[in-house]
Amino acid sequence: MSTPINVVITGAAGQIGYAIMFRIAKGDVFGCNQKINLHLLEIEPALPALNGCIMELQDCAFPNLAGVFPTANPEEAFKDADACFLIGAFPRKDGMDRSALLQKNGGIFRVQGEAIGKFAKKTVKVLVVGNPANTNCLICQHYAGASLKNENFSAMTRLDHNRMLGEIAARLNVTTDKVKKVIVWGNHSNTQVDDASHATVELADGVKAVYGALPQADLEGEFAQKIATRGGAVIKARGASSAASAANAAITQMRDWWCSTPEGDWVSMAIPVPDDEPYGIKKGIIYSFPVVVKQGVVEVVKGLECNAHIQAGMKKTEDELIAEKQAAYEALNIQ
Ligand code: NDP
Repeated sequence: MSTPINVVITGAAGQIGYAIMFRIAKGDVFGCNQKINLHLLEIEPALPALNGCIMELQDCAFPNLAGVFPTANPEEAFKDADACFLIGAFPRKDGMDRSALLQKNGGIFRVQGEAIGKFAKKTVKVLVVGNPANTNCLICQHYAGASLKNENFSAMTRLDHNRMLGEIAARLNVTTDKVKKVIVWGNHSNTQVDDASHATVELADGVKAVYGALPQADLEGEFAQKIATRGGAVIKARGASSAASAANAAITQMRDWWCSTPEGDWVSMAIPVPDDEPYGIKKGIIYSFPVVVKQGVVEVVKGLECNAHIQAGMKKTEDELIAEKQAAYEALNIQ
């Protein structure tokens, strides 16, 4: 019987929290042979709603769920954490400017980063979902301190990656397992670069480049626009946000980080820019790259040729992340 691992979900009573906790408890991330303790962090007013979720967890009778610990105290939540899904964040309100949003979220991710640095295991994997995810992740890493390293942190760009797979597969009438090597570069925001220029698709007559199987002008125009605005389209159609697909993206990102990426493919992950500054992206921000993961070690896929259109987008999204960092550092008085 496996020793339980400690898995933290913040904002656990929210929409994404509700969509993710049952799948984690079932084994969709860490496998069916891994026992799990769920540490569920919420703000005090949301604890009664969280209690309802916990009743449902019990009623699912998941064999691998060893324990459920609800709390409003970050120090308790992150104690001995192995994996953290940081989902709870302050929502943007009407009329709120970006620096106010960064300040509000900076406060949340400061407290959580400090608790993670002090109380989580040194091998912890921290995945930030709450928006603005890349910059919240940067703040969290900053306050976690030097006892944790770059390899402990990532922010979620997997939803955009999965949206690309889904849309290409739909246009070519194949299942998504036939589509490989899409990339999301940069920030999880409107400036993200949805790059299909290295993607391949397995069709009846062999493996082809997606550039060619679909028109390049569409892929760099209307297709990319559709992916970047998908969240808004779901809200318009459903009257509620894309919580299920966001939860699924967090599940797939953590699963590949924990268990390795599939042979012959890569995934997109926003990570602290490594020391060798791949593709000329400067250190000090959390930027999404194509990566492979082997036994928990994340490596950026190097040496891909990027056309001028993609390169211009990569620079623009880098500039936005640098500006977000400056605004967050000013709001939090970080030197
Ligand atoms: P959701 O669960 O819908 O969303 C949570 C965060 O995920 C938001 O920042 C949201 O960004 C982000 N997100 C990323 N991708 C997506 C996507 N595709 N679709 C929707 N959201 C996405 O929010 P709720 O308001 O339902 O729940 C938030 C919970 O967090 C509440 O229960 C609240 O009590 C809790 N909370 C906890 C905190 C803590 O633990 N200290 C602090 C603050 C809140 P966006 O806003 O851009 O949609």
